[in-house]
Amino acid sequence: MKRIVYALMLTVLVVVSCGKEPQEGKDAKWERPSYATGQKPGKISYQLLIYSFADSDGDGIGDFNGIKSKLDYLDALGVSAIWLSPAHPADSYHGYDVQDYSRINPKYGTEEDFKALIDAAHSKEIKVYMDYVLNHTGKGNVWFAEAKKGPSSDKFSWFNISADPATDIALGKFPSITGYYQNEWHSVTVGEVGYQGRLHFKVDFSGAIKTLTVTTSTDAAQTPNTDSSVQMFLWLGEPGKAVRMYRSATDIYEITLDVDSPWGVLVRTSDTSWDGGTKWGAPKGANVLNFGTPLPLSTTDAQDILFGTPAEMSFQGAFGGWMPDLNYGKVADAAAAGPFNALAETADKWIGMGVDGFRLDAVKHIYSAERGPENPAFLKLWYDRCNSTFRKTHSTDLYMVGEVWMSASEVAPYYEGLPACFEFDFWERLKWVLNQRTGCYFANDLMGYRQKYAAVRPGAIAATKLTNHDETRAATILNKDLAKLKQAAAFLMTAEGEPYIYQGEELGYWGKDSDDGGRDELVRTPIVWDRAFSAATRDLDGHFDMTLVTDEISVAAQEADKESLLRVYYEWTHARNICPALAGGKMSSHPKYNNNNSTDKTVAAWYMTASDGSKALVLHNVGASAATLSLPDDKLSDEVVSLGDVKVSGSSVELGANSSAVFVQ
Ligand code: CA
Ligand code: CA
Repeated sequence: MKRIVYALMLTVLVVVSCGKEPQEGKDAKWERPSYATGQKPGKISYQLLIYSFADSDGDGIGDFNGIKSKLDYLDALGVSAIWLSPAHPADSYHGYDVQDYSRINPKYGTEEDFKALIDAAHSKEIKVYMDYVLNHTGKGNVWFAEAKKGPSSDKFSWFNISADPATDIALGKFPSITGYYQNEWHSVTVGEVGYQGRLHFKVDFSGAIKTLTVTTSTDAAQTPNTDSSVQMFLWLGEPGKAVRMYRSATDIYEITLDVDSPWGVLVRTSDTSWDGGTKWGAPKGANVLNFGTPLPLSTTDAQDILFGTPAEMSFQGAFGGWMPDLNYGKVADAAAAGPFNALAETADKWIGMGVDGFRLDAVKHIYSAERGPENPAFLKLWYDRCNSTFRKTHSTDLYMVGEVWMSASEVAPYYEGLPACFEFDFWERLKWVLNQRTGCYFANDLMGYRQKYAAVRPGAIAATKLTNHDETRAATILNKDLAKLKQAAAFLMTAEGEPYIYQGEELGYWGKDSDDGGRDELVRTPIVWDRAFSAATRDLDGHFDMTLVTDEISVAAQEADKESLLRVYYEWTHARNICPALAGGKMSSHPKYNNNNSTDKTVAAWYMTASDGSKALVLHNVGASAATLSLPDDKLSDEVVSLGDVKVSGSSVELGANSSAVFVQ
């Protein structure tokens, strides 16, 4: 801790000695913190739901301009990055069933609005992370629409689609899937008689058997031939559209066309006569094209030549029938897989626009073997691919954080692929600490996790968090106990790692997730900005807990209330930003108050030490009554921040119930 840092911070007046003389009510002199250049080293991120954060145009849906208008709020929280919920067009309000990764959801604004948000965020030293869904798309995805055309489509293999999944899995046809689970497979009609796309047609009348060969093409489309001496036509698409072909050799005719045919194709040797053998189709029972294979033509039966036959098949969707999983093939070949490169090209686009990083959804599901080597290996390919783009315009590496929802030891191997992973065990341990009022094991547990990560990747970033959009809210888990909620914030801001605050957590929002008998929407509540209830609620389809809309819980009300949870967040995020040992420090044990201390089990204590050697002592008493700690070997004269009742007397400190303090060493 350097005092000079405090002096630099005086655009801000943050009351750090909270709780010593509790005062209810308003605080007219208080101002929101704000940060100047270089003053947010705490690496605090904010998870933000675009649809329910802030609505700029009153349509009830959050949008980019809404977020842009609230950057001061995020800055005041000491945030240096925002993770946005998926920004692409999607089937559902939450965005995790993407239709098109290359575009922006028009409900949130235009690409220009998105770019303007990125630029405005950067001007406040707030990075922008996009949520990327690599495991699956939406049923309305543009690639899935192509894949449904059938095996002739080059997108068919981008998904796991089969008429007989159990057999195909046993045959090893789907390298990412380890076993057949019936509830992962969902029926889909595959194949159309028609076709949309660019095709090359070749008619061969040189032999006894006349043939038509059709292939997909990336060559330029041709306009129909106008040379009336050539009497060879394709009849396709809308009725009346005869397309004259080009003669490429004697009795060989070719043309490349953009096709939009709802029914199929016929070959004609006249564009005026339908009889006299001028209509050439397929023989009965053999009227479906296989691209690249010559189809014998018949003028006696002359059946419509179809591009496919619809068939009832199944696709794999590990998250349900509206989210088809992508198929990257064998992991060794994944970097060459179609969907890998198509997705990477979209990521390139957003990196080019200024996006600073990505949060990757559900990465343990990309390859079904969650604990196998495939997913980490795949993620390394993906990270390296995106980072190579990023490094063309940046001198630092790309940030990327994976959602690996498993225990810390199961998460550790994923650091082979990614620089950061969410640490779900942080909250698993912390909620136990707070509800069981047992703090002594916390630091030791956390350090153990960090050792496992570092063994895989030196410098591994633990993305710490309380809850996210898929979990029951912290306030519900902590029984809306305000003292515990405040202390949860204090733990989050004093632990090693890079913390995420989830939208609404700083306001004490509660709500039960669908896994706990609630609804997902109830943990994705809009920010209530003020008493006029300006909140983005429309996309939550009415599933909104109106009891959250009170005078007490809005941002405006909590900012005016010295004792609010939001004010504690402001104080502790500020402490993390101004104290180098907290901002980037490594945890180490306290010699006395640690996991071996059997008499002061309510106390969690540790040191944080920065790379410059500066050091801070972190103390939390999670007990329901005061704890007096004797600390003759620690310095207690330089308090960074405190919560609750903290009384220093000589070499001892008394921490009241749910009280915390940080001292520079
Ligand atoms: Ca809006
Ligand atoms: Ca998968």
